Amino acid sequence: MVYNGNMNGTKIKTAIVGGGASGLMLAALLAENGDNILVLERGERVGRKLSATGNGQGNITNLAVTETEYFSSVPTGAERARALLSAFDHRALTAFFERLGVLLLPDERGRVYPAGRQASALTDALRFYLADAGVRTAANACVVAIEKRDRGFYLTAKTERGTQGYEAENVVLCTGGKAAKNFGTDGSAYVLATKLGHTVTPLTPSLVQLKTDTAHTKTLKGIRAADAELTAHWTEKGEKKATSLQGDVIFTDYGVSGDAVFRISAFVTDKTEKGVTLTIDFLPAFTEEKIYATLTEKRRTFPSLAQTELLGGIVNNQIGRAVMKRAGGDIREAALLVKAFPLRVTGTLGFDYAQVTKGGVPLAEVDENLQSKLVKGLYFAGEILDIDGQCGGFNLQWAYSSACAVARAIGTKTRGQV
Ligand SMILES: Cc1cc2nc3c(=O)[nH]c(=O)nc-3n(C[C@H](O)[C@H](O)[C@H](O)COP(=O)(O)OP(=O)(O)OC[C@H]3O[C@@H](n4cnc5c(N)ncnc54)[C@H](O)[C@@H]3O)c2cc1C
Repeated sequence: MVYNGNMNGTKIKTAIVGGGASGLMLAALLAENGDNILVLERGERVGRKLSATGNGQGNITNLAVTETEYFSSVPTGAERARALLSAFDHRALTAFFERLGVLLLPDERGRVYPAGRQASALTDALRFYLADAGVRTAANACVVAIEKRDRGFYLTAKTERGTQGYEAENVVLCTGGKAAKNFGTDGSAYVLATKLGHTVTPLTPSLVQLKTDTAHTKTLKGIRAADAELTAHWTEKGEKKATSLQGDVIFTDYGVSGDAVFRISAFVTDKTEKGVTLTIDFLPAFTEEKIYATLTEKRRTFPSLAQTELLGGIVNNQIGRAVMKRAGGDIREAALLVKAFPLRVTGTLGFDYAQVTKGGVPLAEVDENLQSKLVKGLYFAGEILDIDGQCGGFNLQWAYSSACAVARAIGTKTRGQV
């Protein structure tokens, strides 16, 4: 049922602010209780971002979900997510969507998608289920204020029909983060939490392209280093840290993009001010010695071949020229650079290009059911919390696991269980 008005004096049991991944899942789980629920979504329809996930294919979860795939601004954050993730893991999520008539399938990397590879199938299934269960969703309803009253909350929303007020016993903030504002997540909703006394940790974009020093890559714009090994290096509490992964790196005018960059960004975007360096191994299958020996032999066999062309046939031609130029023609140095081409990270392309937000409402401010420790009846689910996941379905899994924790808590209050 699409709802576009006030509740005619009926008090809402649970007002869900945000009709994204976590809000829709929460509404679906609570619908089983028959509670009086209202989903308020600022966009013209619910689930717009969900329909765009995974390049439109909907990478909903991952077979390898553990807390180690997650980040938080405090070391204990990801640890705190563990119980919630295991209470509603990828198996539970798969079973849930099967109940809604959607089959899920993993790919060879453990990423789980709807079998038809359409993210919109997830949104459609949730939307149909909610409509069938009679859950009211108010689209074009942007919640601008939430006031705590004696026995519940008063929410004010800007709607197409002017300002509307709603009374609710519980409020769940499912408003997402600050990334990808074209999906309704511009960060303005954090103020709903801060006005109720919560804090928000520093926010950084994640799963995003990285800006780098481009002095040695100006000629490489648009060039893809396929299946390179990318390593990020940084220092944490005086200790040197590094993480590596394999994938495509694409050179751009601002720095680097491509799936490897995107994935590695999750580890470092909050550390760029303290210094992060990337190194690219253009040829993970060959050792530095093998490359050096090949270059030595090539120079001996073809003495008239221009120095800049020596890496032709070994790596992409343009990459080869950029490497030889940076090496100043020294083939020992060139072999080293093929295996570890360093780029200093200077920033990210920003929230508008990011898929996820690092930081949010600290987990220390909520209990194990994600209920506010400051305001009874206020809950949080999804990206608004200070938890973010790696690329590969982990962020949607968090949205769903956290929604399930809230549903269980609110459901227990009403009916004993969800
Ligand atoms: C292009 C893209 C692709 C992605 N692909 C994947 C993927 O394949 N796998 C994966 O795991 N993750 C992916 N993510 C990340 C994932 O979509 C998010 O982490 C997840 O949707 C967060 O769920 P959420 O419920 O917290 O917030 P969201 O899904 O962002 O929903 C928040 C909702 O709240 C609404 N809202 C905000 N403020 C208000 C307000 N004041 N009043 C009313 N409504 C409000 C917004 O309009 C929005 O609909 C992707 C993200 C993007 C941008």
